[in-house]
Amino acid sequence: PRTAVVIVGAGPAGLTLGNILRAASVDCVVLEAESREFIERRPRAGVLEEWAVRGLQRRGLAENLLARAEVHTECEFRFEGRRHRLPYAELTGQHHYVYPQPLLVTDLVREYADVHGGDIRFGVRDVRLHGLDTEHPSVSYDCPQTGQRRLVRCDFVAGCDGARGVTRAALPAERVRVARHDYGIGWLALLAQAPPSSDCVVFGIHPRGFAGHMARSPEVTRYYLQCPPGDDPGNWSDERVWAELRERLGAADAPPLTEGPLIEKRVLDMHNYVVEPQTAGPLFLAGDAAHLTAPIAAKGMNLALHDAFLLGDALVARLGKGDTSGLGEYAARSLRRVWDYQEFSQWLSEIYHGTASGDPYRAGTTLARLRRLFTSPTAATAFAEQYLGTDGTS
Ligand code: FAD
Repeated sequence: PRTAVVIVGAGPAGLTLGNILRAASVDCVVLEAESREFIERRPRAGVLEEWAVRGLQRRGLAENLLARAEVHTECEFRFEGRRHRLPYAELTGQHHYVYPQPLLVTDLVREYADVHGGDIRFGVRDVRLHGLDTEHPSVSYDCPQTGQRRLVRCDFVAGCDGARGVTRAALPAERVRVARHDYGIGWLALLAQAPPSSDCVVFGIHPRGFAGHMARSPEVTRYYLQCPPGDDPGNWSDERVWAELRERLGAADAPPLTEGPLIEKRVLDMHNYVVEPQTAGPLFLAGDAAHLTAPIAAKGMNLALHDAFLLGDALVARLGKGDTSGLGEYAARSLRRVWDYQEFSQWLSEIYHGTASGDPYRAGTTLARLRRLFTSPTAATAFAEQYLGTDGTS
């Protein structure tokens, strides 16, 4: 069997790419290690930037999202016992959409497979890439139904298999540079079966450590608590979690937190990486496979979509009209936004974690940085532009 593009991984990047290719009648096959039920339920991100939603909308992929997502226009910082609202939509004319990643993935799978009859194979094992230094690459895998090895020949391979995938390892080691940054910090990522406790995202900047509140839906809320890297979620009883959230998100006039059962407790070791170049011959990496940003600034899913838009349009131009310019520029255009978001994540990380660093100098500069956001409209606007990704880096 032969197809134009094999896409490894059915996350936001791979599914968006698949939809762009199907809409242009480009043949493709998506290979996914997990089951459809699993990927449609896997909770992760929830914050989408307006340019990303418009990109999905232009490609006919945002109908449910626009009908169901919540629009957020401000965020709130709590520090030194006070609440400070930052009205980012007023400052930039753009806003965030809150739409849980599993809902977006569900929409994208339905559009690709059910509406357009796209080829997607779930539960595949042991995906391997071959012939990347030739004109005739191929991808092989173990088929879950028959247990047999299958091979798909293709023109291009899109590596959209996330941070733990296999396609990144197929880049030639001697030509690849991986830039890494480890924050040395853990976040306990929590999902509470409870309505949000605020109408916006809340960042608690506290000497005991960062705490975050992010609405996901009227019934489910994400919270984060800074913790030591590698901490065991078993150390965090529900009582301890809620006590710590109350303390770190506490502020004068803050409404009490709406508590509920905690349905997810995971410790994330906060680190970033960027792979350069993210292409080799017919292989193009997209999304977390090529670059990871810790969820500090809620950027990962947005970057995955950005890559899918660029790569999808470039592959359509190449396979439809023989125009290679988009593929040639893909890595550089992706990386401009990636590095911009990396820098913002690093800047924001200092705001989140500086006061709890135990270093009075860092605590002092962190608080100065925070106060500036609420005394200088220029500083607030600069923050808002980066928070919403409106700086035109694409
Ligand atoms: P993924 O979503 O990881 O998809 C990769 C797919 O490939 C998966 O389905 C996987 O099963 C499959 N796969 C892996 N290996 C193989 C293989 N060998 N063969 C076949 N298939 C394979 N981002 C935001 O923008 N906003 C947020 O608010 C936000 N919050 C987050 C909160 C948490 C707790 C976490 C963990 C992440 C968060 N992110 C956020 C990041 C976001 O979830 C990721 O950046 C996003 O999922 C990346 O999409 P992707 O398609 O590149 O990769």
